[in-house]
Amino acid sequence: MAKYDIVRAGSPVLRDRAAEVAEEELGQKPLLSLVRTMVEAMRRAPGVGLAAPQIGVSKRVIVLEDAERLMAKLSPEEREERGRAPFPLKVIVNPVLTIVDDAPVTFFEGCLSVPGLSALVPRGTEVEVKGTDEKGTPLSWRVRGWPARILQHEVDHLEGTLYVDRMLSRTLGHNQEVAEHWFGLPVSVVRERLRA
Ligand code: ZN
Repeated sequence: MAKYDIVRAGSPVLRDRAAEVAEEELGQKPLLSLVRTMVEAMRRAPGVGLAAPQIGVSKRVIVLEDAERLMAKLSPEEREERGRAPFPLKVIVNPVLTIVDDAPVTFFEGCLSVPGLSALVPRGTEVEVKGTDEKGTPLSWRVRGWPARILQHEVDHLEGTLYVDRMLSRTLGHNQEVAEHWFGLPVSVVRERLRA
């Protein structure tokens, strides 16, 4: 198995609480190399976020990035509704997440470790995350919309939680079916139709 292969649901590492990165690891080769591997795996997938346990490493490191090409299929209205906008690569070590606005926003969400499927998942509207970058420089990011969803999803991975633990399970579907039947409809309509 190439070291950047993504670990799938069923593997115990996805259910463990990931370990804190020690101060002496910051800026050192093994951590920098882990981050490079994670970024490469995320971009290859392609995905908008990845947590270290997803490449089999039980450490508290996440990477996130959203690019124009990944949202090319969304209409301006859909982007607006999701709060989706491109943002440059973020590497966050030992992230501590606070939900600033817990009013739930519900959208379809998937995970590279649960390939081919998606489901509606309620998430907090606005979050703040604090941590450091891979060299130890402190960072803090307060954000709403899609990046807030990605952050909640990735930090969940570090606690051994997958989106399937939080999803409205009646909405789970294969991506093709979800795209064919449910994409583009208001979430309230989808929920009513699926009784979710
Ligand atoms: Zn995931």
